[in-house]
Formats: sequence, C-alpha cells, structure tokens
Amino acid sequence: MLRNAHRLFGVHPRLCAATVKAGVTLDFDVYVAEGSRSKERQDTLYAQGRTAPGSIVTNATADNSPHCFGLAVDLYPACLDGTFNPQGSFGDRFEKLAECMKSIPGVAWGGDWTSLKDRPHFEVENWRTHTSWMLTTIAIVAGLALVAHAI
Ligand SMILES: [Zn+2]
Repeated sequence: MLRNAHRLFGVHPRLCAATVKAGVTLDFDVYVAEGSRSKERQDTLYAQGRTAPGSIVTNATADNSPHCFGLAVDLYPACLDGTFNPQGSFGDRFEKLAECMKSIPGVAWGGDWTSLKDRPHFEVENWRTHTSWMLTTIAIVAGLALVAHAI
C-alpha cells in the first residue's frame, strides 16, 4: 500500500506512476517521504554539515536539486517490522523498491550513485533537460486558477 500519497502533489507524472505501481505491487508498504521541495528547504538541507550542525545529506544546492522542480521523490519501504523508520532495518526492500521503480523507463535511483548514495531518492533521468515540465506545470496551474476563478 502507498502511504502519504498526497506528498506526490506537484511531482512529475512519470515518478507518480512508478510510485503508485510500487505501492500496489510490492508486498510491503511504501511511504512517500518528500516530493516537491521549496528552494528554502533545499538550502537548509545543503547547509547541514557545512555551515549548520549535522552531517552532509546532499550535494545539491536549490538550483541543482530535482526536488525543487518536481522531478524527484524520496520513498521509504516499510521496515521489516512494518513500521516507518528511516533508521530501521529494511533487508533488501530498498533494492526491491528500486527494481520496481526503475521498471518505468526514465526513472533513476539515488542508490545507484557512486558518491553519497541516496537510497530513498528517485528522480527523472536527465532531469535537467525537463525544464519544459516546469512551464507545463505553470501553464496548468494558471489555467486551473482561471477556471476556479470563473466558477
Ligand atoms: Zn531526494
């Protein structure tokens, strides 16, 4: 089952499709931890381990994070004990989740990266070429706002 599906709001349809597929086909729950992210939040994450306490969690500034463009989603499988805990035991569930997600063409997994592996992270492959997605989203939101205003 897919948990916190509302967090897919604003995420690219390809990632939404892959996430829903994972949620309905895998034999464990899948939690949506985060989808679209504000630039302010990305800047805060980037500062962690650099100018703020904690360890480094990302190498991406706001302009370099696909989360800030709706082109990434962070997912966690349920732990082996069924709870949702980023520090819990997952067995091979991240690999099963990634296999399912990557069965949708054009989905890349942060667990495949060679530096600073990010197992919860999935993004649209070559996301930097998808700037038209932003324009499409803006156009749709503007259109919906016009329709909502008219009724
Ligand atoms: Zn991520």
